[in-house]
Amino acid sequence: MSYGDLSEEAVEKHQEAGDILVEVMEEARELVEPGVTHLEVAETAEERIVELGGEPAFPVNISIDHEASHATPEADDETVFGEDDMVCLDVGVHVDGYIADSAVTVDFSGNDELVEAAEQALDAALDEVEAGSEVGVVGGAIEDVIDGYGYSPVLNLSGHGLQRYDAHTGPSIPNRGVDRSAELEAGQVVAIEPFATDGSGKVGEGSHEQIFELQEERSVRDRAARQAMDQITAEFDGLPFAERWLDTPRPSMALRRLKADGAVKGYPVLQEDEGKLVSQAEHTLIVTEDGYELTTAGLFE
Ligand code: MN
Ligand code: MN
Repeated sequence: MSYGDLSEEAVEKHQEAGDILVEVMEEARELVEPGVTHLEVAETAEERIVELGGEPAFPVNISIDHEASHATPEADDETVFGEDDMVCLDVGVHVDGYIADSAVTVDFSGNDELVEAAEQALDAALDEVEAGSEVGVVGGAIEDVIDGYGYSPVLNLSGHGLQRYDAHTGPSIPNRGVDRSAELEAGQVVAIEPFATDGSGKVGEGSHEQIFELQEERSVRDRAARQAMDQITAEFDGLPFAERWLDTPRPSMALRRLKADGAVKGYPVLQEDEGKLVSQAEHTLIVTEDGYELTTAGLFE
């Protein structure tokens, strides 16, 4: 198998991260039940990642119904899964900075076809992947399948490259057909993530913001903000983190200050219109000369 310029060590660590992710996801999806708190699922999964030898590459995302991305529980969050919820679980694991990123949908709402649409779109996208494939063609396969189910892909969310300690790099892999787009290259590690919805196909920013990322290391005067900054630079490797991960006494205030200073940025929850549903399916893979190697194989079995 040829992985382009990707080193053997990088391939192995990506695979290790993927194996951990698949195991953690299997356990996490079993935990998701009406009445169980989001926080229990997120914390259990994040702890298991560490027990198995990885680190979270970002906080466990738990998106309900019209939410698509960037939702994670707050500290002491008592929100529970509801009996009619559509739940997207999106988990990231890294081993020494080499990241795996995957998502599954657990559905209690009875909308099996919406879940199937995202999963089938992911399969169709994978069929198009090899070195030299245009990302717009991969996106076209996603769009065709989801359209065929009578739903819309979420057009303003896309798949992405994964580089060491960077969970969102190029190439961007659209969830729709695009003409004359970038070509995939052997050795690129990419996450492909179709979202299907009965809504407009365009997500907007909600008011909740629980996931943050370091922008620029700054010296700050405020004591709580400085304490938070110290932990952020020492522990999170420039990767996204949750407010609940901070040990600072008043983390939301510290983060507000750090944001105002331009030291961190927030990721507001991205969501469809209220009352709509969003499903998601995501795999991480390494592009090869004649296809791909999934690092998260077994996720949907
Ligand atoms: Mn993801
Ligand atoms: Mn992703």
